[in-house]
Amino acid sequence: MKKALMAGRNAARGPASGVWQQRWTKRTRRQLCGKKCSMDKEAKIYIAGHRGLVGSAIVRKLESEGYGNLLLRTSVELDLRNQTKVAAFFGQEQPDYVFLAAARVGGIAANSSFPADFIYDNLAIQNNVIHHAWLSGVKRLLFLGSTCIYPKLAPQPIKEEYLLSGPLESTNDAYAIAKIAGIKMCQSYNRQHGARFLAAMPTNLYGPNDNFDPETSHVLPALIRKFHEAKLDGRDNVVVWGSGAPKREFLHVDDLADASLFLMNLHEDDFSALLDHQSTPALINIGSGEEVTIRELALLIREAVGFTGNVVFDPSRPDGTPRKLSDVEKIRALGWRHKIGLQEGLLRTHKWYADSLC
Ligand code: NDP
Repeated sequence: MKKALMAGRNAARGPASGVWQQRWTKRTRRQLCGKKCSMDKEAKIYIAGHRGLVGSAIVRKLESEGYGNLLLRTSVELDLRNQTKVAAFFGQEQPDYVFLAAARVGGIAANSSFPADFIYDNLAIQNNVIHHAWLSGVKRLLFLGSTCIYPKLAPQPIKEEYLLSGPLESTNDAYAIAKIAGIKMCQSYNRQHGARFLAAMPTNLYGPNDNFDPETSHVLPALIRKFHEAKLDGRDNVVVWGSGAPKREFLHVDDLADASLFLMNLHEDDFSALLDHQSTPALINIGSGEEVTIRELALLIREAVGFTGNVVFDPSRPDGTPRKLSDVEKIRALGWRHKIGLQEGLLRTHKWYADSLC
């Protein structure tokens, strides 16, 4: 039925032009390969944002699994906000799969100061990549978003169906609205064009290639740096902002990369079930499903870094949301769960950070 509809639509647009012909041939080839679903090792895979925290972890994972035909472009080589260049890139390269991990990303300060940059860049990047992925017949695309798309006061743990059920956190709503538009775009292209585009919402990530800048980093890398420097300087105390009571969830980025490949390699029936779900868009949370208080996190980081002084909490500083935990039942039901515990992940990340300074 879908096939017939698509054929009808194509016919309605007139005789097969070069682009339509190419797309149709690719689709027909795809339909003929039946339920085979895993990415074959020679598949051409484009990782947008391959130098970032997420993209670099996906590249490491793909390489370790023997995928040898990776398509990588820096933002200087290909500015994904430029529609003409993105169209030419997809037209020429014709990737089979796309991991969309390119985005303008930042903490609260950057989001509050530059909301126009956050909404424009992210809308432009995802509009161009998603649209041209469809035009060039990409088999599957994974769009990376974040849990800030969910309402500020969403019940905990946060389920996928809470999307658009209440007001957003105002400090990063421009970024969140861009990401929600990306989710809706995937859903719309799936519905109208039979595309196979899935949106994944990871929890707070950490690991190699994270941002350790004291002005713009997230809490976990910021604390690693603080404790590391306190140890080197032989200080007695490290001051941590807030009461230490808020609870947060963290996932090592290598686990996120593992989950991303798991999703892109899902059996066709399971993948279709994710895309066709009626109550929520094509959306899935990726997290550990485990939470720690900031106090517990700080103590774990002190241990990982080997700092022997005291941890002092400063309750005059803001705490932020008391709790933020994603519901990971959907991905667990498919058979995936995280493997890297927080303690091990912190040790690995601190080692990476210390080595990166040498
Ligand atoms: P990073 O800032 O580490 O990396 C972003 C990447 O995007 C960079 O490699 C950069 O390329 C690329 N990029 C930015 N602008 C452009 C552009 N105009 N054209 C082409 N490429 C561009 O981000 P993360 O890896 O942390 O985040 C990636 C995705 O994962 C985002 O969608 C984010 O929402 C999501 N995510 C991240 C979390 C986190 O804790 N970090 C948590 C949850 C989700 P280059 O290096 O070449 O300039």
